Parts: sequence; C-alpha cells; structure tokens
Amino acid sequence: MSPLRLRDLSGIPDYKPGKAAPASSRGPAPFKLSSNENPYPPLRSVTEALNGSAALVNRYPETAASDLTRELCTRFAVEPAQLVLGSGSVEIVSQLIRATAGEGDEVVFAWRSFEAYPMLTLAAGAVPVRVPLTADHRHDLDAMLAAITERTRLVLVCNPNNPTGTVVTRDELDRFLGQVPPDVTVVIDEAYVQFNRHADSPQGIDYFRRHPNVAVAHTFSKAYGLAGLRVGYALAPVQLAAAMRKVALPFGVTALAQAAAVASLRAEDELAERVEHLVRERTRVTRALAEQGWRLPRTEANFLWFPLGGHTMAAAAEFETHGLLVRPFAGEGFRVTIAEVEANDAVIKAARSVRDAGL
Ligand code: PMP
Repeated sequence: MSPLRLRDLSGIPDYKPGKAAPASSRGPAPFKLSSNENPYPPLRSVTEALNGSAALVNRYPETAASDLTRELCTRFAVEPAQLVLGSGSVEIVSQLIRATAGEGDEVVFAWRSFEAYPMLTLAAGAVPVRVPLTADHRHDLDAMLAAITERTRLVLVCNPNNPTGTVVTRDELDRFLGQVPPDVTVVIDEAYVQFNRHADSPQGIDYFRRHPNVAVAHTFSKAYGLAGLRVGYALAPVQLAAAMRKVALPFGVTALAQAAAVASLRAEDELAERVEHLVRERTRVTRALAEQGWRLPRTEANFLWFPLGGHTMAAAAEFETHGLLVRPFAGEGFRVTIAEVEANDAVIKAARSVRDAGL
C-alpha cells in the first residue's frame, strides 16, 4: 500500500453531529433534540415546490438562483451584488473565512460557540482565536476586541450564541464595532435570529447597513425548517460578496433547495406562527425548570443550555433514558432543542430526575 501524501489535518477536530434517533428503541419514543432542528414537517406549499422542481434534477441548478435572489433582495432592500447564497449557512461561514483569512491569519470568535468555527478556520490554514465566554455564558466583546491583532481578518459574533442561547446587546455591539479596525470583517451569525425576543438585542441587518465591514449570515435550516435541503445566505459588502463567490462551492445550492426556500419565504406567516409556538414552548419549559430550581442562562434561541460541568455526561445519559438525545460537551454542559410539546414535557421530566439524582 503506497502512503498517500495528505495535508496534516490532525489539528482539526471532527464535527460531531447529534446522534440520529434510532428507528426503534426499547425505551420511550426517542426525540432528537441534539441539532436544533425544527420539529414541524414541511409545509404543503414547500412539498409542492419540491415536487415541481424534481423533474429538473437532470440539469444543474441555476447558479444565479434568480427567484430566490429576487425574493431576498426585495425583502432586505439590498442589491444582488450584496447577497451570497450557500449550501447552508455553514458554507456561508466557510466562504467568509476563506474569502478573508489565509495561511497564518487569525479568526476571532467566542468560545464555546458554533463547533464549525474552529474547524473551518483550520481547514482554511488560518488560526482560530477562541475568546472565552463570560461567567454568565455571554460573548465577552471587550476581550474579543483585545484579542484582535495585526493578523486578524475576521471576527465571528454568534447572536444568539450556539450553544448557550445568550445574546449581545446593541450597546455592547455599538461599542465593539466603534473600535474594531475598519479593515477587519465582522460577521453576525444569526442562525437563530427569528427566535430572539430580547428587546436590547441588535438586528444584524441594521448593522450591515451602517457599517461597511459588517456581514450577516442567515439560514433556512432553523425557523424555516429546511435543514435537510442546505440553504443559507449572507448579506455582505459588495467587495466581500464578490470574494465569497470566488471561494463558493460551484452549484452549491440545488434547484430543490432554491425552490423550497422561495416557497418558504412566500409562506412566512404560517412559518412565523410555528416560530411563535416554539417561543411560547421555550417560555413554558424555562418556567417549569426555574420552578425545579434550575438557573439556566436566558436563551433567545430554540434550545436550552445546561451548564453542568463535570456532571454533563451523567446528566445527558439520564436524559437518554427518558428518550431524549441531547448535545453534550464533556466537562461543560449540554444543549437541548425546544421541539414538539411531548418532547418538551419529557425534557421537564428528565430535568426533574437529574435534580432528584443530585447531579
Ligand atoms: N451558525 C450557527 C450558529 C449554527 O448553530 C448553525 C447550525 N447548527 C449554522 C450556522 C449552520 O447551519 P446550516 O448550515 O444548517 O445553515
């Protein structure tokens, strides 16, 4: 066997997706609460759009994605030159990193945050700079500012933050952006923005309009429920958007994904009701857990963060015996998606058993 000359990728952590729910199990019906997915099935209009474009899959998708581009540009009042599509917002983050940072350049982000940030940074040959969250699980924007050096090309601000659900405030972001060097790109990753009800939390679009070094990343995976189709987009300054297109995966957004995304934008009211229901469920679960004595960080996303430190894996195993698959990070905590009512009821019950077990 001849040894292949591969790059040394040993420093790049593996992406650990949430466990898939087993098809059948001897325990209670499993709920997959490990990937922040939307529990609702696709809308009928989305299924119809998918069926309509299925007949075209012998052809490559239209690279310009003109229908989807038009819908998004109208909605945000931006030019097509300021919009970039990708195969999920994870590809958007990848494009942003590869468009700005090369060998030895630095990418600054809070930690813990979205798992893909360090992986994509390392894969680009750049250096991840992880800035610890504050004791209350929030971005420490002052420390992130202090972490910026001559080599910094990109700063990622995840708002709300995955996995803690916490948000930055407008004042914090204003102060931060007022001091970031103008040649450093700041990305506001708003994968969960539709779930954010915090009165003082910024809307990325306002900052994109005001600051020439700000880009915003959005996804159809969460509030729009299209995780399996892989479609996300960025609003970015024209020069950055052009650079992102150069490093984008050719034909990265399939015709099916484009059609489903357009149908979803046109069914916004129905989808917004679903989001509203999940937000109400989040309030219900949060209150029930507070009554049990839990003091969890305030979440503005479709998930909860249990900062259990050394008890994380034992508590995650306890949740699993209740049929709940969560996303644990050993020694830190685990993340649980807010989903359908029965799943949320089971979360309340499992949390009670974890407390009773003294974990
Ligand atoms: N950003 C954040 C903060 C996320 O949590 C995720 C998904 N977990 C993504 C981006 C990527 O999502 P997708 O590629 O499905 O759009």
